[in-house]
Amino acid sequence: MTAPRPGRAAHYEIEVGPPEDASTRARTGRLTLTHGVVETPQFMPVGTNATVKALSPDDIRATGASIILANTYHLYLRPGHERIARLGGLHRFMDWDGPILTDSGGFQVVSLGDLRVVDDDGATFRSHLDGSLHRFTPELAIGVQEALGSDIAVAFDQPVFPSSPRAVVADATERTHRWAERSLAAHARGDQALFGIVQGGLDPDLRAASTRFIAAMPFDGICIGGLAGDETPAQRISTLDVVVDLLEADPRVRYLMGLGSPLDILEAVDRGIDLFDSVLPTRVARNGQLWIPGGRINIRNARYLDDAEPVQADCPCLLCTRFSRAYLAHLFRAEELLGYRLATCHNLTFSLDFMARIRAALRAGRFPANLSELRARAGAIRAGGSADMSA
Ligand SMILES: [Zn+2]
Repeated sequence: MTAPRPGRAAHYEIEVGPPEDASTRARTGRLTLTHGVVETPQFMPVGTNATVKALSPDDIRATGASIILANTYHLYLRPGHERIARLGGLHRFMDWDGPILTDSGGFQVVSLGDLRVVDDDGATFRSHLDGSLHRFTPELAIGVQEALGSDIAVAFDQPVFPSSPRAVVADATERTHRWAERSLAAHARGDQALFGIVQGGLDPDLRAASTRFIAAMPFDGICIGGLAGDETPAQRISTLDVVVDLLEADPRVRYLMGLGSPLDILEAVDRGIDLFDSVLPTRVARNGQLWIPGGRINIRNARYLDDAEPVQADCPCLLCTRFSRAYLAHLFRAEELLGYRLATCHNLTFSLDFMARIRAALRAGRFPANLSELRARAGAIRAGGSADMSA
């Protein structure tokens, strides 16, 4: 395995590594990027259209977020990456001065189903907005991300659903490898890191081959794609074990794409994963589902209309420090916009606080010991991934 290219725009330093007794593979670290430092394990809220839906940049900061994700596919289509570049780049455009990761667009393009055709050179697709015809290649996906100016760009890949037939997975994985080489060759922006994506579905041999292939290339970080879809938690864990076995001595940060439920994240941290993203906490918030220690509440339930208590008494968020469950229940019933903002502030605060608790346990050497306590806090919230291109 090669070391990351010297002088690149990402430096990952492990603070507390896994213990020698191998009771966990979890670790804490610091990922230094152009716009700041990200402590890991970390969750990245998703700002699909250069906005975390319903939140201002100050709201996002107040939730404890240190890095956010934006979607290359969506910003390419609207308002256009060249326009964002002319307006000073994505950080200035959305007034977020912290780190930003852009995905490659591969997931959204492939999610279009009948609206796209993949060949060896790239993917041709119709816009979900107006039906216009577009073509993504690895070179274009990198060019778009360079124009956006994110801290971390991601190589263009062809994800497939975990349950796809082996031949389909093998074909897409080999194409992802060829596209990884082209993405790397096309990438020139010195203040932007570039991560590669491991694919390979649930097949241990394909997954291992993909891990070896991607890890042999001088990417600044390793994404694990093609999970957080329709696989079971047990299938996900065994696939992560295949990947992390091979990355054990690799110094780079590991990012599992699309996983968002606290319990799923906790199990993946235990298997050695450092970074996560998902629309899950923000999307369910807009549906009235609030995450609290040990579970969740549905604020649309009539029982909350007279409930003067905060959603979560010890939560420092904008919702819980100032408003009652009754007020939020009223806002949702009246479809008032403030309700979506407050609920989103809360779920992100819960998610990011949960990550902080994981890091604290790791730093104190209490991680495997505290697993049952952390599992209890995560509750039984589980969901698949963000398998919806409209995010
Ligand atoms: Zn709260």
